[in-house]
Amino acid sequence: MSKRIVVIGGGAAGMMAAVSAAELGASVTLLEPNERLGKKLNITGKGRCNLTNNTGIPELMGNIPRNGKFLYSAFSRFNAQDVMVFFEDLGVPLKTERGNRVFPVSDRAFDISAALERRLKKLGVRVVRDRAKSLEIQDGAVRGVTGEENRYPAEAVILATGGVSYPATGSTGEGHRMAAEAGHTVTPLRGSLVPLRDFGLGKTLQGLSLRNVGLTVFENSKKIYTDFGELVFTHFGLSGPLILSASAHMRRFGERAYHLEIDLKPALDEAVLDRRLLTDFEKYQNQDFCNALDGLLPKKLIPEVIRVSDIDPRRKVHDITREQRRGLLQILKRFPVVIAGPCPVTDAIVTSGGVKVKEINPASMASKLVDGLYFAGEIIDVDAYTGGFNLQIAWSTGRAAGVAAAEEKHKRRVFMSTTRVAVDGPSGAGKSTLARAAAAALGFLYVDTGAIYRTVGLSARDQGVDPGEETAVAAILPPLRIELRYDESGQQRMFLNSRDVSEEIRLPEISRYASAVSALPVVRDFLMETQRELARKHSVIMDGRDIGTVVLPDAEVKVFLTASAKVRAERRCRELEERGTPQPFAEVLQDIEDRDFRDTHREAAPLRQAEDAVLLDTSALDFQQSLEALLRIIRERMVL
Ligand code: C5P
Repeated sequence: MSKRIVVIGGGAAGMMAAVSAAELGASVTLLEPNERLGKKLNITGKGRCNLTNNTGIPELMGNIPRNGKFLYSAFSRFNAQDVMVFFEDLGVPLKTERGNRVFPVSDRAFDISAALERRLKKLGVRVVRDRAKSLEIQDGAVRGVTGEENRYPAEAVILATGGVSYPATGSTGEGHRMAAEAGHTVTPLRGSLVPLRDFGLGKTLQGLSLRNVGLTVFENSKKIYTDFGELVFTHFGLSGPLILSASAHMRRFGERAYHLEIDLKPALDEAVLDRRLLTDFEKYQNQDFCNALDGLLPKKLIPEVIRVSDIDPRRKVHDITREQRRGLLQILKRFPVVIAGPCPVTDAIVTSGGVKVKEINPASMASKLVDGLYFAGEIIDVDAYTGGFNLQIAWSTGRAAGVAAAEEKHKRRVFMSTTRVAVDGPSGAGKSTLARAAAAALGFLYVDTGAIYRTVGLSARDQGVDPGEETAVAAILPPLRIELRYDESGQQRMFLNSRDVSEEIRLPEISRYASAVSALPVVRDFLMETQRELARKHSVIMDGRDIGTVVLPDAEVKVFLTASAKVRAERRCRELEERGTPQPFAEVLQDIEDRDFRDTHREAAPLRQAEDAVLLDTSALDFQQSLEALLRIIRERMVL
């Protein structure tokens, strides 16, 4: 059966995601509450749809002030030229205009959304008019979507609900709520590419549109942006492409002050403009100042320029001083407008803020928190300047999400915590044999930490290092490659720099080296992470001296396994005899007592029973009885 995918949102990103997933054979349902798909798409670029910017990836990134890096991977897979080929293949001829802006040759945004709709239909995508209400998530994986009308089971869901700008087009922030309910962080939403409010100038100049002017933005008197183009004065302030683009750079309203300087004569440098003023003043020398600027400025603007210049409009032009002319020149090059703030996000073309990019995989747009959940388009916390960049983001992220949702296999994640059993106790108490048998019975990994210390001991001996000398031992540690591997029968084997040393480390001489090096804090610290790492990945029974006290202080089960020194020495003698290396009882007992003393009296992690450990004394028990007792203790405390 093909994979079921639900795409929430029929805008640019959602349609692209649906097409991309369906092209790969997924069974796709696209949920959109609006009667029409691509409602906002149809009004972008003044209804012409500036669908991308015909440029390279570095330039795309350069036009994305927020989280541009996050998009690198999506752009590399589906760049501006890919977008152009995509739409031309769908039968929409394109053209590239000034500033690399790409439009349909027809200048009709509708051609773009219609092409996508045809493609959706051809691929058999089910377009359903329903409003998604919530995501169905179980055990960390998405299972479907609940809509107002219906439920839609799915193995993957792509959230492409857009921003919160232009609510009339259907972007209402529902997607942000669903993302937050799924555990995602949504950064504060505000307008980007938004008209600006001023302190009344707009109202005075309402309707005046200035083409070919320069604009410089100051943040707390610091120049932060400069551009060239067209702006328009409106009843609340300023708008137009130049202002919308600039607004995306003004990111700290409320915290910082902003003002603009408009260069009304960007084509003339100051020297040239001054000569021009002199010529004009010569021409109008016997007129009033207010009539001398007609050749230079649009009518509506003249009174404002004069007001700012502080020159009496009735003054005769030949009376204007050199200083006054210089002052006027400054105003023409730097006409000031103080900004009160941005218009509300609902008036913005693009929403800044959204689902935090750190929580999204940049290659696949997959949620890092919920298996099978993807994001596309404006809902993500990225936004760009004008010029087709925001739509390019929608296409690239939609493509990445659709492809990944169709291709990725989703595990039904089962959260089973690992169980950690710490078995500590003195040498020869039978820990290793018992723990190994218990691990086999429970299907846990048995970890003999003594073998790890023995491997360090072996290394010290091989390199002729005094195992009691902390600095000397410390020096041999960094290059050591100690590995635990498990053979087919589940036996732990020790490798030292790729050499199997499992047998060698059992030599009595190595027991003494191990005992000595294990008393050194530097060695204990060095081996700590290796031991903990094993317990993170598997359910383990780990035997040692300090597992319950130091290595895994929060182990679910702790057992302190012991037996009298005499019983331990007897068992050890039998073992040695079976191996063909018998030793006199007295010597073995002495050795055990010595090691007990060292283990319990050393300063670094001395052997002791953890407060919450269960004491199991096997002095009077045989192997079978001991194993049963151990398994009983573990089973009683095991968290399943
Ligand atoms: O358990 P085994 O006898 O193989 O351990 C070898 C040496 O390593 C012991 O002398 C003991 O002091 C030390 N050791 C330790 N901490 C552990 C495991 C072993 O200090 N967790």
